[in-house]
Amino acid sequence: MEQLTFLAVHAHPDDEASSSGGLYRLLADQGVRTVLVTCTNGECGDAPDGAKPDASHHDGDEVAAIRAVELDNAVKILGISRLVRLGYRDSGMKGWPQNDDPESFWATPVEVAAAKLADILIAERPQVIMTYNAHGFYGHPDHIQAHRITLAALEMIDYEPTLYFNAIPASVMVHWRARWEQEDRERAEADAAKGIVREPEVPDPDEEEFEMGTPDDEISAIIDIGDVTGAKFDALEAHVSQIADSFWMKMGRERFMEIMRTEWFVRVTNPMNIDGCVDDIFAGYR
Ligand SMILES: [Zn+2]
Repeated sequence: MEQLTFLAVHAHPDDEASSSGGLYRLLADQGVRTVLVTCTNGECGDAPDGAKPDASHHDGDEVAAIRAVELDNAVKILGISRLVRLGYRDSGMKGWPQNDDPESFWATPVEVAAAKLADILIAERPQVIMTYNAHGFYGHPDHIQAHRITLAALEMIDYEPTLYFNAIPASVMVHWRARWEQEDRERAEADAAKGIVREPEVPDPDEEEFEMGTPDDEISAIIDIGDVTGAKFDALEAHVSQIADSFWMKMGRERFMEIMRTEWFVRVTNPMNIDGCVDDIFAGYR
């Protein structure tokens, strides 16, 4: 039988765990070859003391070195067969000065990075690939660029894989949003008790509004990761320098394993002419 290969294009170390960690572990357990392309080194992540990139002592190279080790650990936990680092510098959030660094992923011409990805695709010939939608799922420039280079690379190769974007159904997003708002309120109350007053965040009028949730009827793959949620949690935890404070970690492993039992995707190319919503990302290939 033909070797099944899955490849995902992710922006930063930790994205592989958060948006496809369950899928990776599940496929590895099924004997599928799995490839991870991580586009940036994550220089704009938190420093070991929690400092953000605008802090004067924040050292992007040091942050990247820590994240490289964390990524290696997550790759082991998820059973990923091959990790390819494209090695671009993290572009930071929209409007940050790092956007203009010529070595940043955002400043790299799409066709240049896409050609590198195309070489990997031609060598590995994954039947199924995954990245983010045109908004980079949540608007981060590196995620948008990951989307762009993936679509451009598909134009450069000699076959058509099935492409999926990761997604959260709108009905699920409603719950998460409520949870995040609650956390924000609690943080503001805790700050207020300490005498810290924060200016309320004013939305940027130039900011394009987009909805992170995908209409439920557009979801075309619902993957039950219930058997491997523990591994997904452990892979997230491997990125401790970035997410020790995240709502996932605060949830704790047990609660996480109860709640985070599904990953969702939207099919974008469909060379196997699959109909409707599937529960196997390799539907049509096995
Ligand atoms: Zn990211």
